[in-house]
Amino acid sequence: MDTIEKTDIKSLNLQELTEAMIRLGEKPFRARQVYEWMHVKLAAGFSEMSNISETLKEKCRECFAYTFLDVVRIQESKTDGTKKFLFRLADGNLIESVWMKYRHGNSVCVSSQVGCRMGCRFCASTIDGLERSLKASEMLEQVYAITRLTGERVSHVVVMGSGEPMDNFEQTLKFIELLTDEDGLHISQRNVTVSTCGIVPKIRELADKNLQITLAISLHASNNEKRKKLMPIAGTYSMDELLDSCRYYFDKTGRRLTFEYSLVAGVNDTKEDAKELAELLKGMHGHVNLIPVNPIKERDFRESGEQNVRRFKNFLEKNKINVTIRREMGRDIDGACGQLRRSYMGEGRRTEGC
Ligand code: SAH
Repeated sequence: MDTIEKTDIKSLNLQELTEAMIRLGEKPFRARQVYEWMHVKLAAGFSEMSNISETLKEKCRECFAYTFLDVVRIQESKTDGTKKFLFRLADGNLIESVWMKYRHGNSVCVSSQVGCRMGCRFCASTIDGLERSLKASEMLEQVYAITRLTGERVSHVVVMGSGEPMDNFEQTLKFIELLTDEDGLHISQRNVTVSTCGIVPKIRELADKNLQITLAISLHASNNEKRKKLMPIAGTYSMDELLDSCRYYFDKTGRRLTFEYSLVAGVNDTKEDAKELAELLKGMHGHVNLIPVNPIKERDFRESGEQNVRRFKNFLEKNKINVTIRREMGRDIDGACGQLRRSYMGEGRRTEGC
């Protein structure tokens, strides 16, 4: 094992890479070449960089770690073409990412952490707690690896896989910076969505960065008491504080928010819930995204029936709340966050790679 940690080259922006190259005694334009290989041509390693000398490649191998993901498993939905990828990180940890095809383009859902410590009751990612946060390069590489494997361009990225991005704030910001960099893949900020369970101070800090990304808030309840039963974070930040931070986000960025609401039968899907939710979100700049909860075998939550989902939607609409029903993608392939990793590890591979 290396004792000195090598610099993670794929997490450096162009300026940082230029400085690193100069420290190696190289000309600044070398940084631009290597950067292009990594972030535009999506090279799988230094050896592919055909306009870089062997000497420099060797120097790079000595000084830098090059993040690369091994594909462990790919599951393809028979119903909608969604693909779910299970990747192995350099330290043996497993993460999952999802590729979805929409009319407006291809979207990748990336994980921001291995596991999660937020404890949402209906979520599979959090059952074994947090293993570690991902580096920016490990988030980026999910998009890059999927682009290489599918041979198709990714136009949208959602940080809605396993993990809480606001609990990995700096690396998530770096990831967005590199993903949207005009010298990299150059995905539009408007096509990037970050979803959070509601870590209020981080929402405010993100607002101050004044990015044009979409912020999605996992709300899942119409009052704090109910929310606390589903999401422990509601015990730390009240609904008022959360919605205040959402208003602040809109005021700072001009970006409308998305409120995610997973419908759990008999828990948060009644007419009273819809009524309270409409009241709560009156005047908020944003829309509600409804999704029937994806049942996980470790918990006994059931999804709302189709009729209930419709009724809930209609009630909100009558009360002038913008609402969409999220298309359920890949239900037949361990669709919910963290399910694929759990089912794979459950096959007796818990210690593999560690
Ligand atoms: N930690 C972030 C992002 C990851 S989860 C967050 O909380 O927003 C992405 C979305 O999927 C969140 O809205 C989360 O609450 C939801 N989710 C997790 N497990 C689910 C399940 N089994 N069924 C439906 N939605 C789920």
